[in-house]
Amino acid sequence: MGDFLPALMGSFSTPAGDNPTSAIMAASFRATGEFARYVNCEVPPDGLGAAVRGAVAMGWLGFNCSLPHKQAVLSHLDELTPAGSLIGAVNCVRIADGRLIGDNTDGKGFLESLTPLIDPRGRHAVLLGAGGAARAIAVELALAGARRITVVNRSAGRGRELAALVASAGETEASCVPWDFAFAVPSDAEILVNATSIGMAPQRELEPDLDYGALGPGLVVADVIPNPAATRFLQRAREAGATTLDGRGMLVNQAAVAIQQWTGRPADRAAMRTALDRALDDPSSLADIDA
Ligand code: NDP
Repeated sequence: MGDFLPALMGSFSTPAGDNPTSAIMAASFRATGEFARYVNCEVPPDGLGAAVRGAVAMGWLGFNCSLPHKQAVLSHLDELTPAGSLIGAVNCVRIADGRLIGDNTDGKGFLESLTPLIDPRGRHAVLLGAGGAARAIAVELALAGARRITVVNRSAGRGRELAALVASAGETEASCVPWDFAFAVPSDAEILVNATSIGMAPQRELEPDLDYGALGPGLVVADVIPNPAATRFLQRAREAGATTLDGRGMLVNQAAVAIQQWTGRPADRAAMRTALDRALDDPSSLADIDA
């Protein structure tokens, strides 16, 4: 490539200012010696097409799409992976020979965090929420062979839609529970995931409406919320004896999967996690690094 031409990749979203991904990408590039730049770009809805064409014209390896572009980007792509197609939303695009291939790495990132604690194959998972994060997680759990997924969601229609999607993805049984009461996790469930935004900073005091007496040892409880790392939900689950998993691993892993897809080389997850903790817990400490 030459000494002065870095590999380029980036992110298109709006608002983009609080997205910590560029900090964690930069940390991995530094740790692995990759000569690359990841550029966090503020792109309004009517600028998405031009941004995508610009990335192709400049020879970017790929880009992430965050809100509000995860569905709108589909019309600019040439190909979708099975997960991208099932989920119907794309957060990671690879550019290969001018062709744009869309994937959804949120669920893959989640699964990479989960599997060291529990293999979802044959398990019953309860999923709180039916939005974008929940869809990505539900599809990957189904593709990984989960026996049953119970979707618990405030809006019954969205919950039913996700349960139907899961049922169409493979062998997984799926059902939906409208969420207007303190939900008691069934005793045969082995995985519980909060895929709602309840408890996210600055509303750290909020927690999903559950019968927390039904949680206990033997249950793996995961949150998708990256900030704070220790949500009230996870604190309550830990007090009940459950094994817990925070949302930062998912965020690091989906970014690591993107680096692997774009550069063909592995990312440094430990360096990325350290950078993410700094970015979210002590943002002023990032002033000295190339984020
Ligand atoms: P969406 O807006 O698509 O979905 C939000 C979900 O939360 C819906 O199911 C919604 O229910 C539910 N919800 C929100 N507020 C309440 C409430 N007060 N009571 C009950 N249900 C509620 O958001 P996303 O799925 O994109 O994001 C959800 C969370 O996931 C965010 O906190 C985001 O930061 C996090 N996330 C984390 C990632 C990571 O890598 N760690 C990656 C992607 C997302 P309803 O359908 O009834 O509105």
